[in-house]
Amino acid sequence: MTADHKHDKNAIACNHVVRRKRPVMIVSYDGDGLWQFMCGKADHTKAKQAKKVCAACMFETHAPGITPEEIPAGHIAERQTKTSWTVRALTDAEKNEIEG
Ligand SMILES: [Zn+2]
Ligand SMILES: [Zn+2]
Repeated sequence: MTADHKHDKNAIACNHVVRRKRPVMIVSYDGDGLWQFMCGKADHTKAKQAKKVCAACMFETHAPGITPEEIPAGHIAERQTKTSWTVRALTDAEKNEIEG
């Protein structure tokens, strides 16, 4: 447990993963310190359905197999199996999408 950490609202998650309707499939970290935890499906608009959440809590409860230290700024982790992730750099298009 990480009950002693400060619960910063430094991440957003789509409502599917917040409600546990779907697993987190994508974790991205932009250069401005904002984490995103998304189900990876395209059937929602980020602006309307994203909720502010605590990144540390999301990693602990929703993203087994990966830690914040493994995702540098400007990178994205894509889930391959339950606990296996691949990390790569965000493309320019993806960065623009996140900022928009
Ligand atoms: Zn927390
Ligand atoms: Zn979703």
